[in-house]
Amino acid sequence: MVQTLKKSWTTFKTIFTGMGVTMRHLLQPSVTLRYPEERDELPSGARSKLFVHIDDCIGCKLCERACPVNCIAIETVQATKDVDLGKTSTGNPKRFWITTFNIDMSKCMYCDMCVPPCPTECISMVPEYEYSEYDRNNLLFQFSELSADKVTEVKEKAEKEQEEKQRKKKEAARKKKAQKADQTSKAKQKNSEG
Ligand code: SF4
Ligand code: SF4
Repeated sequence: MVQTLKKSWTTFKTIFTGMGVTMRHLLQPSVTLRYPEERDELPSGARSKLFVHIDDCIGCKLCERACPVNCIAIETVQATKDVDLGKTSTGNPKRFWITTFNIDMSKCMYCDMCVPPCPTECISMVPEYEYSEYDRNNLLFQFSELSADKVTEVKEKAEKEQEEKQRKKKEAARKKKAQKADQTSKAKQKNSEG
């Protein structure tokens, strides 16, 4: 009989303790959100998703070098002399075509180390965190806006310009050598005549 009373007391005590906690929280303002209908604003400096304002990128690759897990891949082609790529919004001259600018967000560890080195402040974390995917390949974000044809065109032009530069350099060296040989032979001839 005593045992039964003890057990009943424990049961009621437990129920009332639990109900007490429930009632207390029922009267307090809610701390949770009805996501996704409700969303909290992210605090400033939150690390969530990288974005590149490609028009302001000068192709310096400082962000790529700063990334400790190699999830940024950039390829550039130097613009030929006849092309003026203009300036960034920060006034930096643009000298390279950005043929590839990929960020693999499936590898990113949100360390933010790629952001501070950027001289034009064109790479940044944006307050967007709803970008989960079933296929991790979809987390490879491509920021270059050049078409495949344009990439081929600028590469070919840059190669031609480089070849021409090399040819002119060789030609100048050959002329210099010939001039020197000519001067030496003239000097020898003068000496033998004297
Ligand atoms: S946040 Fe860190 S890991 Fe992610 S791309 Fe930038 S440097 Fe790399
Ligand atoms: S550091 Fe900035 S400007 Fe340089 S390649 Fe990266 S995003 Fe472009």
